[in-house]
Amino acid sequence: MSESVQQVVKEIAADNGHDRTRMMDVVRGVQSKFGCVSGEAMELIATELKTKRVEVEGVVSFYAFLSEKPLGAAVIRVSDCVVCRMNGAEKVMASFESALGIKAGETTADGKVSLAYTACIGLCDQGPAALINDVPVTYLSSDKVGEIVETLTGTGSPKELIKTLGEGKNASELVHSMVINNVRKKGDVIFGGMEPGAALHKAVKMSPQEVIRDVKTARLRGRGGAGFPAGMKWEFARSSVGDPKFIICNADEGEPGTFKDRVILTEVPELLFEGMAIAGYAVGAKQGLIYLRAEYDYLRAHLEHTLAEMRTKNLLGEKIQGKEGFDFDIRIQMGAGAYICGEESALINSCEGERGSPRDRPPFPVQEGYLNLPTVVNNVETFCCAARVLDQGAGWFSEIGSAESSGTKLFSVSGDCALPGVYELPFGLTVREFLKIVGGEDAIAVQVGGPSGTCVAPAQFDRKICFEDLGTGGSMIVFGKDRKILDVAAEFMEFFIDESCGWCVPCRVGNVLIKERLDRFREGKAVAEDIDYLNSLCATVKATSRCGLGQTSPNPVQSTLENFRTLYESNIVAEEDGKQPTFDLNMALADAVEAQGRAPVFHED
Ligand code: SF4
Repeated sequence: MSESVQQVVKEIAADNGHDRTRMMDVVRGVQSKFGCVSGEAMELIATELKTKRVEVEGVVSFYAFLSEKPLGAAVIRVSDCVVCRMNGAEKVMASFESALGIKAGETTADGKVSLAYTACIGLCDQGPAALINDVPVTYLSSDKVGEIVETLTGTGSPKELIKTLGEGKNASELVHSMVINNVRKKGDVIFGGMEPGAALHKAVKMSPQEVIRDVKTARLRGRGGAGFPAGMKWEFARSSVGDPKFIICNADEGEPGTFKDRVILTEVPELLFEGMAIAGYAVGAKQGLIYLRAEYDYLRAHLEHTLAEMRTKNLLGEKIQGKEGFDFDIRIQMGAGAYICGEESALINSCEGERGSPRDRPPFPVQEGYLNLPTVVNNVETFCCAARVLDQGAGWFSEIGSAESSGTKLFSVSGDCALPGVYELPFGLTVREFLKIVGGEDAIAVQVGGPSGTCVAPAQFDRKICFEDLGTGGSMIVFGKDRKILDVAAEFMEFFIDESCGWCVPCRVGNVLIKERLDRFREGKAVAEDIDYLNSLCATVKATSRCGLGQTSPNPVQSTLENFRTLYESNIVAEEDGKQPTFDLNMALADAVEAQGRAPVFHED
C-alpha cells in the first residue's frame, strides 16, 4: 500500500473522529486530495471507520462528485440543465471537446483536465455555466473556451479564471466569485434587513411552545415545494419521544431552474442560522446541520465564518442570549452531487454517511430522522421566514400573501425573459402578472416549480402562484415561442431517469417507458392510443413510487398532456386497419439483445 495514501486517510479519518457517520467528509477529503477514491483508499477508509469496503464503495459510486477512477487536476463540469442548454451549453461543450481533444466523460492523456456534464448547478440566470473544481464559471461562450483551456493546461489553477468579481458578498475575500446575485426585487421578509439577533432576542423571552404557536399562527409553510406547515412539523418533533433532537437545513436546492437559496446563503446566511437556532429552541434540539450541496462549496468558508461570528455574538453556542439551558450550534455537512438528496429522508441518510437513498415513511423524520432521532428538516428559506415571524410578529407575516400561502416567496427566474434573476414577491400573483414583472409577456409556457412542477400554457396564465393553486419551490422557467415543449418535457424526463436512485421499479423503469412513449410523439410515430397509455403510465408511476422523486417525475409529461394536448394530437399518425403504422422489431428488441448479449432466434412454425 502506498504510504502517503495510508497516512492521508488516517489523518482525514482522525479529523472526523473515526466516526462512520462522517463517511461523506472522509471520502470527500480523500477525493479532494487525490482526485479519486481508489480501491486502496476505500480499503483504508473501511478500516479507519470500522466498516466494510462495500459500504465505502456504495457511497463513492452513488455521488456524482466522487470517483473511483482518477480525475484530472481540473474537472470541468458543464451544467446540463435545460436553461443552460437553451443558452448554448451544448455549443460550449463541443468547444471544450474540440479544444481538449476529448469527449465529455473523459480525461486528457496528461491527466490535467477532465470534462463532464453535470446536473443543474444553480446558475441558470447566468448560464451557460460550469463548475471547474469548486469554482463557478458563468456566462460561458465558445469564444471563452480557448482561454480557459489554456489556463487549465498551463498552471492548472481554476481560481485564475476569476477576472471579475460578482457584487455584494460574492466580492468578499471568503467567497471571491464571479457569480452575481441578480436580485431583481427585494421584499419585506427575506430581504427586509433584520438586525442580527433581533428574532432570537424575542424568542428567548417566550416559551418554546409560544414560539411554535407563533409560527403556526403565521401559517408559515415549508418553502421547499410541498408546503407542509412549519409550526406543525416543529410541534411533532417537540412532542416526539427521543433525545437528542436535531434541526437540519436542506440547502441542497437541485431542482433545475432553482438558485434562490444560493443568494440567501451568500447575502443573509445569518438570518438562516438564526431561524435554525429558533427552531432548535422551539423543538428542544441542541445540534443543527446544514446540508450544503457540493455545487455551493465555494460558499463554505463564508458560511463557516458567519457561524464563527455568530458564536462570538452569543447567537450560537451555550446559554444563547443568556437563556439558561438554551445551547445550540450548527455544523456544515457537505453533499457530493445527488439530486435525490433534496428529498428529506435521502438527505438524512447522506448526513449519516450513507448512500442518498430515500427511506420508507412512516416513520417520518420528526419521529425517527437523523440517527433515528426526532429531526426537523426545513428548507433554507423556511428558516429565514421563521426568524422574521419572530422578529416582526405572526400577524405581520400572515397578512402578506394569499389566504393559504402567507408571506413572500423567493423565485428563481430563468429562460426566455428580459430580467432573469431572483425576485421576492408575495404569494398569490397570477402567472400573467408575474410574467409582466420579469419581462416574459411573450411566453408560450411557464414551468412552475421546475421539472417536478407544472408546465402551464397561456390559457392558464390567470392561475395564481401559491400553494392553493400553482405551488412552487421557487423555480420559474419561461419558454418563448421558439421552444419545443415536447422536447423540453423529454429533457426533463431524461433528468429524472438519470437522477432516480433506482430503488423501486416504477420509478427506475416507468420513467424510461414514459420517455420512450413521449419520443414517439416527438418523432411523429405515435398512435391515438399512446395518449391513454401515457396518461395511465404516468398515473401508475406517481401512485406506486416510493419517494417524492418518482411521485412527481411524470409531471413534465402529465402536465403537458393536460395543458398542451394539441401538441401531442398533432403528432399522431393515422392508423390503417387498426394497425400500428410503424413497428421496428429490431429496435423493440434492442435492449433485450444488449442485456442477453445475443441476437434473437425466430422459429417459423
Ligand atoms: Fe429511488 Fe425513484 Fe424509488 Fe425514489 S421513487 S426511491 S428516487 S427509485
